[in-house]
Order: sequence, then structure tokens, then C-alpha cells
Amino acid sequence: MAAPIDRAALLDRLRDTPQWDLVVIGGGATGLGVALDAAARGFTVALVEAEDFAKGTSSRATKLVHGGVRYLAQGNVSLVREALHERATLLANAPHIAQPLAFVLPAYRWWEPAFYGIGLKLYDALAGRRGLGATELLSAAKATAALPNLKQPRLAGGVRYWDGQFDDARLAVTLARTAVAQGAAVLNHCPAKGLLREEGQVRGVHVRDAETGERFTLRSRAVVNATGVWVDAVRDMDREPGAPARPPMVAPSQGVHVVVDRSFLPGENALIVPKTSDGRVLFAVPWLGKTLLGTTDAPRADLPIEPRATEEEIGFVLKEAAAYLTRAPQREDVQSVWAGLRPLVKPDDDAGSTKKISREHTVIVGRSGLVTVTGGKWTTYRAMAEDVMRRCFEAGLLPERGGGDATSSLRLVGAPAHAGGTLAQPPGEHLYGEDAAALRALPGAGHWLWRDGNGGFSEAMLRFAVRHEMARTVEDLLARRSRLLFLDAARAEALARPVAELLGQELGRPVPENEILAFESLARRYRGLPEAPAVQPSLRSA
Ligand SMILES: Cc1cc2nc3c(=O)[nH]c(=O)nc-3n(C[C@H](O)[C@H](O)[C@H](O)COP(=O)(O)OP(=O)(O)OC[C@H]3O[C@@H](n4cnc5c(N)ncnc54)[C@H](O)[C@@H]3O)c2cc1C
Repeated sequence: MAAPIDRAALLDRLRDTPQWDLVVIGGGATGLGVALDAAARGFTVALVEAEDFAKGTSSRATKLVHGGVRYLAQGNVSLVREALHERATLLANAPHIAQPLAFVLPAYRWWEPAFYGIGLKLYDALAGRRGLGATELLSAAKATAALPNLKQPRLAGGVRYWDGQFDDARLAVTLARTAVAQGAAVLNHCPAKGLLREEGQVRGVHVRDAETGERFTLRSRAVVNATGVWVDAVRDMDREPGAPARPPMVAPSQGVHVVVDRSFLPGENALIVPKTSDGRVLFAVPWLGKTLLGTTDAPRADLPIEPRATEEEIGFVLKEAAAYLTRAPQREDVQSVWAGLRPLVKPDDDAGSTKKISREHTVIVGRSGLVTVTGGKWTTYRAMAEDVMRRCFEAGLLPERGGGDATSSLRLVGAPAHAGGTLAQPPGEHLYGEDAAALRALPGAGHWLWRDGNGGFSEAMLRFAVRHEMARTVEDLLARRSRLLFLDAARAEALARPVAELLGQELGRPVPENEILAFESLARRYRGLPEAPAVQPSLRSA
């Protein structure tokens, strides 16, 4: 098991290291993947995250590890093949938090089983020996057995195929811990406030420890901007004095998920609707003891760290689900609702060395040497990190090292030989893999703050999160170490104070009242209720 992680010791390293090889700004899937890849190649690496790991888009995914079957319909075979490769790699390297899942596509028109079946057989063929299970055509009776709550009238049959699912925020924290185990200094609640520029070149990052207000500068040979939808704010820090602002690189699009009771999707399979009334894909996925429904896709002009789902979006998801489910969830059945911003990349304007990689993501090396990466998806974070490293080598920012493959067989911290449970079950010890024994040894292993089936969130899990997983706030604990805010926001709100009490014990200082109030207000937002006028922490004010 990896050793506990001491924030004070990490801060000392950040302060005392005269020069890093690489500093990464942003602790979502993309930045954490880059930090891990670089550390595994033996570079000295620091990563700073303004809020918490996966606080941005990376905790708000549909939780699918997927090849992107819809890209196949667009003829983008190489993109699908690569994502299928990454799907298998992730499932092998983190079997406690990324696992196979069967999806059933219901067919209401006679030609649909054959039509979708052919495409999905091709999907299997592209996965080759890394496939997770064979696609099968289902009769109407078998489709109903697979999805017992499916609407019967006119059901012609269905198709069952395999992809994967994961716990996104816990994977992010696991990547952070693995990067630390590989020698990286990875810090949350530490925003980048500016870039150190010398002779027109980026030579480091000015950061601020949000807990103490202390500011210091990290000198570095290469700086990677992996701030998701916020990349333009960091690119703006790279502007020559007096130069006009560049047009934004990212156009955000909002996706909303709605969480309802598991009983709305009985059985072990997920439901996929390939074409909703607005032409998108809709999923109903069994996840951590609940059913997750989503998602929508709507352009947004602003970039809030906590985007709010509109009633219209919630209504859309429920309406589309109701078209397929006999017992359909109503508005009052919604236990949590959350929104995430997808970074859609506009054509690049930077006249420096630029290149659009032939995948969904984009890597740009600006004239100043600032490397910006955005777009892509969680599933391909590892391949994206390899691309970023390749660009750093090509641009001469770092000496080429470690070959092309530092992480494909690197098992993540805690990875067991075999998963001890599924991601459809309520959260429990099985999500800790090899760390479960250490978890059990902590005080409060039998004291459940929240109980669901054989799992939930125990006092020992809370203590583990603070000591080993860098949790610093009530929100870190209830939103991203346990996923209670995303599963049942009312229960998360009710737990804010008991959690703050135990967190205070672990940190050796009381949790400020305004932090508790801010979390309770946030939980009301996830319940879809109006918030109390409490202060929400934001990227800009940090
Ligand atoms: C609705 C939705 C559903 C999705 N579903 C899936 C799915 O099922 N499967 C899949 O593979 N992909 C999915 N994706 C895509 C996937 O979630 C994203 O591609 C991925 O999370 C992006 O990660 P990121 O690290 O680039 O961005 P983020 O996760 O947003 O990380 C950027 C980080 O930078 C930090 N930051 C910003 N400014 C600063 C600063 N100044 N200093 C320090 N840190 C800063 C932010 O706090 C944030 O944590 C989905 C996306 C959306 C929107």
C-alpha cells in the first residue's frame, strides 16, 4: 500500500525544488494523466489543482469507459480502435474502479436489431482479443429479461454489447496517488495564479496555497496547461503585456445527469437509447447502487466551476427515459442532479507550433513554449498524456526519455488482481482494492456515517481519504472520495456536520462554519432546490 500523503511535506518540496522538468496546471483526467506519464518516465513533476482533483468535468462524466461506438457510425475507425485499446488498458490497470458493463439497446422497429447489430459486431472486431464480450441479438423476450422495466408494446428485440464503466473521481484520486508513488508532487487547493515568463518564454508557474494564502513560484522546463474548459484563462496568463486577448480556444457544452433509485433499472445491464428526440445518445446506467440517467448537450457562454442544471434539462432527461421505462422516474424521484462542461475545441489561432492531433483532443505548443491540451475523453486520458509528452520532446522542451509507453502496464495504486465487487453495487470496501485491509485497520471501520447495503461511507473511509487521498474539505469527502453528493444529495447535506467534526479531528483544526454552510448550499443545488445565499468557492476567487 502507498504511504500516507503529507500536504506539508509536498508544500516543502514545491517550495524547495529549484527547477522542475514539468509543471502541470489542472488536476482533472488530462493533467493527472500527464503528471503520471512524466513521473513514470523519471522526470521531476509538480501538478497544481485549483480546487480538488476532478472538481471540474472529470467528476461529472457518464462514467463509461468506452470505445465511442458512435464514432464508428461517422467512419472514424482509428479513433474507435485507439479508445478500445485504452478501454482494455484501464480495465486491466484499475480493476477495482473500472469494469466491464453490458449495454442493451432496445429495438422498436423490425430492422433495428440487424442494423445496430452489424455496427456493434464491427465494434467487437475492432476490439479484437481486447474485447469484453460478444455482441448478441436479443429477442423481445430476452431484451425484457435483460431490462425488466423496459416498455413492452411494439418491442421488436434488442442488441446487447459490452463496454466499461468506472468511478471517475476515484480514478482521478487514484491517478494522483499513483503519480505521487512515482515521485511527482501533486497538490490540490493550489491554484496557478500566473506564469513566470522570461525573454518571451514560459519558465514556470506562480501558485498560491489556498489554505494558507502563501504564494510561491515553481520554475520548470516545460509547463502544461491541462485546465479543461478553463484553458483559455491560463493561455491569457501567457499574453505579452499590451497584446490583444486571443479568441477563445474552447466552446463549452453542458451535459446534465439525473440520479434516481436503482429500482428504475433492475438487473445488471445498462440501457442505451441511440437516438433521443434531439438526436443524442441517452444512457441509463447502474452505478454505485443507483441509476444514472443522462446526458444532455447544450452550448454555454460562461464557465462556472459549478454549472447548474436547468429544469428544462432535468425534464428532458426524465421525458426521454420515460419513453423507454414502464415505471418511469418522476421529478420527485430525483436524488441528485449534476452538470458538467465538455470542452469543445475551436480551430486554433496560435501562429506558433500548432498541430491538431487526429483525435478528439488538441495539443498546442505556443510560441512561448506553453503546452495546452484540452478536449478528448476520460477513456483516452493515457493516450492523451503520451501525445503531450511527445509534443514536449518534439518542441525541445524536454529531452526524449522513456520510450513511447511508460504507463500501459503500470497498475494504479490499490489495483487488486481481481475486482472484489462491481460498480453497480453501492460503494464499499471493494472500491479500495488492495488498500481494503489498511482501511479496515483504521479507527471507525464499523462506524457507518451512511449505510447502503453492505457498503456506504464509514468513519474509516473518511480517515483514509484524509490520510491517503488528500481530502481537505467536507466537499472533497462527500463529493469525490465518497460519491454521496452525486448519489443522494439530501443525505450528503445531512452528513455535512458529522463529516466536518471527524475531518476537524484528522486535520487538527476545526472546519470553518462557512465551509459547512457552502457545502449544504451546494447539496441543495444537487437536489435541484434553490440555494441558500452562501459563498461558493470559485476558481477565480481562489
Ligand atoms: C456530461 C459529460 C459526460 C461525459 N462522459 C464521459 C464518459 O462517460 N466517458 C469518457 O471517457 N468521457 C466522458 N466525458 C469526457 C470527460 O469527462 C472529459 O474529457 C474529462 O473529464 C476532461 O478532463 P480535463 O482534465 O481535461 O478537464 P477537468 O476535469 O475540467 O480538469 C481541469 C482542472 O483544471 C483546474 N483548474 C482550472 N484553472 C486552474 C488554475 N488556474 N490552476 C490550477 N488548476 C486549475 C480545474 O479546477 C479542473 O479540476 C464526459 C464529459 C461530459 C461533459
